[in-house]
Amino acid sequence: MSTFDPANLVRPHLRELVPYSSARHEFTGQATVMLDANENAFGSAAGAGLHRYPDPGQEAVKQRIGELIGLPADHIFLGNGSDEAIDLLIRLFCEPAQDAIITCPPTYGMYAVSAAVNNVAVRKVPLTDRFQLDVEAVKNATGVATKLLFLCSPNNPTGNDLSRADVAELLRTFPGIVVMDEAYIEFSNTPSAIALLRDHANLVVLRTLSKAWGSAGLRVGMALASPAIIAWLQRIKPPYNIGTLAQQGALAALADSIAAQRVVERIRDERARLATALGNTASVVQVFPSDANFLLVRFTDADALFRQLTYAGVIVRHRGREPGCAGCLRITIGTPEENDRLLHLIQHTPWNVSSS
Ligand SMILES: *Cc1c(COP(=O)(O)O)cnc(C)c1O
Repeated sequence: MSTFDPANLVRPHLRELVPYSSARHEFTGQATVMLDANENAFGSAAGAGLHRYPDPGQEAVKQRIGELIGLPADHIFLGNGSDEAIDLLIRLFCEPAQDAIITCPPTYGMYAVSAAVNNVAVRKVPLTDRFQLDVEAVKNATGVATKLLFLCSPNNPTGNDLSRADVAELLRTFPGIVVMDEAYIEFSNTPSAIALLRDHANLVVLRTLSKAWGSAGLRVGMALASPAIIAWLQRIKPPYNIGTLAQQGALAALADSIAAQRVVERIRDERARLATALGNTASVVQVFPSDANFLLVRFTDADALFRQLTYAGVIVRHRGREPGCAGCLRITIGTPEENDRLLHLIQHTPWNVSSS
C-alpha cells in the first residue's frame, strides 16, 4: 500500500484546479480591521459574531475531534453532514458518464442518489441473505471504472456489522477507494475501522454527529483518511461549508463524551428491551440482530402495520421494497416512553394475530 497515491484516482481536471482562497486565508497576522470579505461590519441581528464568515478550516472542531479519536487534524475532513462527504468523494474521484461506484444493497440510499446526481453509474452487489458482503461478487464487479466502494458498518437498514475479515480482504484487493461508513459505530461492539487507516492509504472512514452524538440538526459529519485524501477534499469543498453556529454546536456536543457514552448505553439497553418484546409479539416474524440504534423487523403484514402506526402518529421507516427486506420496517430506538407506545400499538392492533 505504500505506493498508493490518491492523485492517480482523482479526476484529471481536478489535478489542475486552483482552489478558492479567501483573503483572510492568505493573511497570517493579527487582523484588527477586517474589510476584505464584504461582510456587514455593523453586526448581525442573528447573534454576536455572526456577521463574520466562519472558520473555513474548522480548526477548533477538528482539534476536539482529533483528541477524541486520536488522529491529527490533517486526517479529518468536516462536511455539512457526512452526506456532503459522500457527494464530494464521488465528485473527486468519479468522472461522470464514465466511472462508477459499487454499493452493497440493502444499504444507505445516499450513495446511489449522490452518484445519480453526479451522473455516475452504480454497480449494485447485493449483500448475502445473512446481510454480509459477497466478497467474490464485489471483486467480479470491480474494474478500472469502479473508483469507490461504499461499505456501511453497522449497515443501514439491516443494523448488523459487516465481517471484519471481509472488509480487510476488500481493503487489500480493491484498486480504488474503500469508503467505510460508520454512522452507527458507537452503538456497536466492533472497534472502529479508524485503526486500519495507518496501513490502508485507500481507506476513508465516515462518521457523523447525527446519531450517537445526538446532533442531527447541526449537520456535521466527517471523513477520516490519509492527509493526502483529506487535502484533496479540502481543495474542492465549498470554503465555508460549516456555519459558525454549527461549529459552536459541534464543540458543545463533543464537550462531554462521558455523557454521550451514557446515552449510547441507554439506547443499547432500550434496543435489547425492544428486541425482546418484539420477539414475543405474534405479528413479528423476525427481529434482526442490531449493532446500531434501530431494529430491522419483519412483520406478518408490514404494510398494514405501517398504515396503522402512521394513523396513530408513529412514524417508522418502511424498508419492505429493499432487497432481502420484504415485510420489514426499520424502527429507530426512541425514549422508553416512545418505545412503550410503539409496542402498545403493535401488540394491541386488531390484526395482531399469528398468521399460522
Ligand atoms: C444517518 C446516516 C448518515 C449520516 O448522515 P449525516 O449527513 O451526517 O447526517 C450517514 N450514513 C448512514 C449510513 C446513515 O444512516
